[in-house]
Amino acid sequence: MTTNPALTLHFSALVIDGHCDSIGDQLEQGRWLGDRSDKGHLDLPRMREGGVTAQFFACYVPTPFQRHGAATHALDRLDQLHLLAEQLPDRFLIARTAGDITRAKSEGKLAAIAGLEGAEALDASIGMLRQFYRLGVRNLGLAWNHRNAACDGVAESRTNGGLTEFGVKVVEECNRLGMLIDVSHLSPAGLADVLAVSQQPIVASHSNARVLCDHPRNLTDAQMEAIAQRGGVVGVTFVDAFLNKETPAAATLDDVIAHLEYMLKQIGPDHVAIGSDFDGCTTPPELPDITAYPRITGKLVERGHSAVVIRKILGENLLRVFATVCGA
Ligand SMILES: [Zn+2]
Repeated sequence: MTTNPALTLHFSALVIDGHCDSIGDQLEQGRWLGDRSDKGHLDLPRMREGGVTAQFFACYVPTPFQRHGAATHALDRLDQLHLLAEQLPDRFLIARTAGDITRAKSEGKLAAIAGLEGAEALDASIGMLRQFYRLGVRNLGLAWNHRNAACDGVAESRTNGGLTEFGVKVVEECNRLGMLIDVSHLSPAGLADVLAVSQQPIVASHSNARVLCDHPRNLTDAQMEAIAQRGGVVGVTFVDAFLNKETPAAATLDDVIAHLEYMLKQIGPDHVAIGSDFDGCTTPPELPDITAYPRITGKLVERGHSAVVIRKILGENLLRVFATVCGA
């Protein structure tokens, strides 16, 4: 029997992916994530095949709901995640602490980290933020691309808006509750404000390096360095347009590796992670769904990165931030 050291490393590592939109498929297309499908990028059987233990599931609020019914829509998505956990208790759980994630790994279960993508879901209410926390939400993406009550997203950056007064309160309350703040999609001024206000490390769950791909959704070196200096993490994403702005269809797995390696060099191995954006984007052909995850580990091994560094990228860095902010 031959053993592949990269596969052994991958399947023994704790793999945590920082972002997906798959729960929207379950709500809006009825694609139950407990069953294996050939549609979309991610379901629980394919997570297991890909050696991914924990997944951040974003409750995104689609544009038509952003101005009306946002909280209800986000709750509907969160409800779908809870239905999965309730109906598959021996396979799947919603992690509220870092211990829940490591326990899932040791018990052979899969874990979800519940998140919101856009403060629209809060309906401008701090009470709603607390209610979402009580329902297990542990990651708040402050913005999608537009303006909301808390902040401006990257599509609003013409006016240089950052956090609103409400947004400052949201950040402070997230710190107090123990909820991660996610700055992907946030305007540059908003990111600077979060860095000034937050007492806790933050994440950019699915953003690439601006130097390699000059897209407004990607981060400059200074932004990545500021996130790293405060102990935070940047998740390299598979979104083809954030890998290769000019020719998204030509994006490859090598581009993903290039962004990972650039960040390793720029901000160090303790601050780099992966946030695929599965079911929210078009991915490179070598990463057609989550079962392809071991190819990333294979490439990193081939490129000479150590097992210690690879484990950090695959999950240990996100776990550290999660433990720091949300509890061990
Ligand atoms: Zn996104």
